[in-house]
Amino acid sequence: MKTLLFHLWLAHAWCANPGTFDDQAQPPPPAEEGRVESYREVVQRILKTSLREGQAYSRLARLCEVAPHRLSGSPGAEKAIQWMKQEMESAGFENVRLESCQVPHWVRGSVEELVALGEDGKPLGVSLPILALGGSVPTAEAGLVAEVLEVKSWEELEARKDEVPGRIVFYNRPMEQGHFSTFRAYGGAVDQRSRGAIEAAKLGGVAAVVRSMSTRLDDFPHTGSMAYDDDVERIPGAAVSTLGADRLSRLLATGKPVKLRLKLSCEWFEEKESFNVIGELVGREHPEQVVVVGGHFDAWDVGHGAHDDGGGCIQSFEVVRLLSSLDLKPRRTIRAVMFMNEENGVRGGRAYHHQHFEEMDQHVMALESDRGSFVPRGFTSDANPEAMAVLQEIVGLMEEAGIHLMNPGYGGVDISPMRANGVVTVGLLPDSQRYFDLHHSARDTIDQVSPREINLGAGAMAALCYVVADLPETLRRNVVDEE
Ligand SMILES: [Zn+2]
Repeated sequence: MKTLLFHLWLAHAWCANPGTFDDQAQPPPPAEEGRVESYREVVQRILKTSLREGQAYSRLARLCEVAPHRLSGSPGAEKAIQWMKQEMESAGFENVRLESCQVPHWVRGSVEELVALGEDGKPLGVSLPILALGGSVPTAEAGLVAEVLEVKSWEELEARKDEVPGRIVFYNRPMEQGHFSTFRAYGGAVDQRSRGAIEAAKLGGVAAVVRSMSTRLDDFPHTGSMAYDDDVERIPGAAVSTLGADRLSRLLATGKPVKLRLKLSCEWFEEKESFNVIGELVGREHPEQVVVVGGHFDAWDVGHGAHDDGGGCIQSFEVVRLLSSLDLKPRRTIRAVMFMNEENGVRGGRAYHHQHFEEMDQHVMALESDRGSFVPRGFTSDANPEAMAVLQEIVGLMEEAGIHLMNPGYGGVDISPMRANGVVTVGLLPDSQRYFDLHHSARDTIDQVSPREINLGAGAMAALCYVVADLPETLRRNVVDEE
């Protein structure tokens, strides 16, 4: 009872005085003007303002309502582009513009079906939810019926290659759960999705069905891009839910012959013109020097692309909006870029690099948020040791918020072309545990996003961009890759 009373008192004290535990940081020691340490107070202000007044969540909710499906070339993508341009203009961004890029145009179609059939050709009543893989060719209208071969590795496919002709190859290697980062697990499994159809077709297979790239067991299939090889016949590819994959595997384990009927009505169209959307906070001293911050504005045509990557785009928007709202105008320009077509072509990222090639010398850093809008832990960067030391010092200013990592690593797909010019690339690093539960699936919706987490991530990005754009000395550039 005494304990309960104490807890009640504690809860009351906490509610009555919410600042007690949060704001007791020691006053910062005076720091030399221009050193990273001198930004401690402003970094705190940016982070707290983003939690208190951040608009990342509410603006993402609006995007998910206005244009939930934003696959390149789709009406949804076009609508999102026009909406974003307007948002930038009404928020007072400078130099708002669209920059053209050509994008591939693939449409899922309305028919997607995978049915297990018994020896008599009748359905076995096993639920196998699927999504066509992005870029797949369709099946004939009546569907494709074939026996199925399950494999869990490329070695097994090779060892059983005599069984492949005429069959559907079922790739059923799960994501490895033992990695701390789910991105490593994804990297270790996604070759089945990207190369599955090519390798099956080389051996005479007629279609590829892939276990969804997911860390969950459920009935939501996860789509994603697949590749074809010009010299190999194009066969259809689809992803089956993880539970569906387990059901199919159990069925095959009984040893009875099982056939699958696969129907896909997806279609390829002519390439189309699309756009990157760009807006700036122009620098007060070196407007020609640029810090890029962005995400990819296209998303798969299931779910809302809330985490992937609507959230990253809106966080990038928020960097400019938040700093403007705080009257923080850095020495250099901060340029928010909504890159089009990361998911199935990276045309926006390449077009940006191409169109700004002459200014690459003036690009100080490029930051991308494309790992979900979960609680931010820090960043990854390909910076050389000198630049890395500066970045680590900046992240050190965010430690109180639980943001402390500046790990060596990849910046992001859309900004990666700039690496060839020595631009330092950085990626936001949110907690990864839940990302692949919903990545590329119908579960990637706004209700999966936490307002505080996405706002805090936006705050961390704004703080990093601000300090890098404002430091008297330009961040050291990378040594250009030798290869
Ligand atoms: Zn993405």
